[in-house]
Amino acid sequence: MKRIPEPFRIKMVENIRMTTRTEREAALEAAGYNPFLLPSDMVYIDLLTDSGTGSMSNQQWAGMMMGDEAYAGSRNYYHLVDKVKELIGYEYTIPTHQGRGAEQILFPVLIEKKKSKGGAEKPVFISNFHFDTTMAHVELNHAKAINVVTEKAFDTGGYYDWKGNFDLDLLRQTIKEHGENNVVAIIVTVTCNSTGGQPVSLANMKAVYEIAKQYDIPVVIDSARFCENAWFIKQREKGYEDKSIKEIVREMYQYGDMLTMSAKKDPMVNIGGLCSVRSDEDLFNEVKVYCIPYEGFVTYGGLAGRDMEALAIGLEEGMDENFLSYRINQVTYLGEQLRKAGVPIQYPVGGHAVFVDAKLFLPHIPSDQFPAQALNNALYVEAGIRSVEIGSLLLGRDQDTGKQKESPMELMRLAIPRRVYTNDHMDYVVEAFIELKQRAADIRGLTFTYEPPVLRHFMAKLKPVSES
Ligand SMILES: *Cc1c(COP(=O)(O)O)cnc(C)c1O
Repeated sequence: MKRIPEPFRIKMVENIRMTTRTEREAALEAAGYNPFLLPSDMVYIDLLTDSGTGSMSNQQWAGMMMGDEAYAGSRNYYHLVDKVKELIGYEYTIPTHQGRGAEQILFPVLIEKKKSKGGAEKPVFISNFHFDTTMAHVELNHAKAINVVTEKAFDTGGYYDWKGNFDLDLLRQTIKEHGENNVVAIIVTVTCNSTGGQPVSLANMKAVYEIAKQYDIPVVIDSARFCENAWFIKQREKGYEDKSIKEIVREMYQYGDMLTMSAKKDPMVNIGGLCSVRSDEDLFNEVKVYCIPYEGFVTYGGLAGRDMEALAIGLEEGMDENFLSYRINQVTYLGEQLRKAGVPIQYPVGGHAVFVDAKLFLPHIPSDQFPAQALNNALYVEAGIRSVEIGSLLLGRDQDTGKQKESPMELMRLAIPRRVYTNDHMDYVVEAFIELKQRAADIRGLTFTYEPPVLRHFMAKLKPVSES
């Protein structure tokens, strides 16, 4: 496939160090076989996440010097609010320290609103797929998180343009089953991280919004990768090939009432988030009340003035079409090379990451021994590359029964930080997989030595299961 070279040049470098296999084996054991617990100095290429790991541009760094660190009413706050209005079309904005900060201050307000209308006796949120912290905030508010993504997302080998789409019949059915009065909100996650950074089509977003309005349910757009989603719409959706990313983004946000955003993804800041509301001023005022004790005063929301400036600039840079073409091309290249090497992946490749189907790569490891985590560990020992599990370990247990939830997929995610690694680094990753493939049958599953009650994948400690 044709490579698109980087639309930037490198002005500053950060040296990284390769470790020995013996060092990595010791580090992994000390980390309880959980790559989250590795010191990053022990990692050569870090594909754990694309969150907060991007390189800021010279423009963003220049913006950092323009920080107005006033406690209240910082000019950077007003710049940020204006950018959101201009690019997304939402009137009211609260900055937050990151995406989960926005979830924390918005979700309880949505539940209260529903209760004040006599609903939410058994509150549920419905999403194409709840991101892990999103699910955690739903559950911390004693509500249920239900995913209704298209079944096509689970057939990793089968091509489908929109593996992030809602299954609309399942959405209607789920609303009926739980009762519209109990559905607190519909969360549209763009792109759909959990199924592989897969896009949601505008037609699907529109249909979801129409269903939501029919039942008077608010729609939240979980926006971490809204630019990458818009880029896929431009490439794949009929009638949008000649529209600009800006036009597409504006249209996407017409099919939502509010947004939560982890700005650590597409807007390429190292910290930051947003909670914005299209037009409901009452809702905005209630969210502000929660913001102050949790995130800070509403004109900084846990960020420094300089962070807000970098974020305002990053919102626009993330939407640059030259950048997006290169960005998605780099991720696609990695995925296509892996496919060529016989590694099963979620296909087509998504926006921010390549997802390896660990169930297929390691068929001898059952899901309760976390095949994708076993694969993470093997890749780390092999080549010093860090990746993350998106499967049973992440999904966790049912709150009521304490049973392991059944994960439809066992995926290992290779997330590519923005503007950080070169295409040679991608080739290095592919070579490591070619080595691993030869020894796949020797990779062993894992069992807990420590299992935290909430968001267990971050802090869990494990050990390889003993050979029988
Ligand atoms: C990262 C992410 C979040 C949470 O944001 P943080 O900045 O990590 O708190 C929420 N939803 C999606 C889809 C994400 O990718």
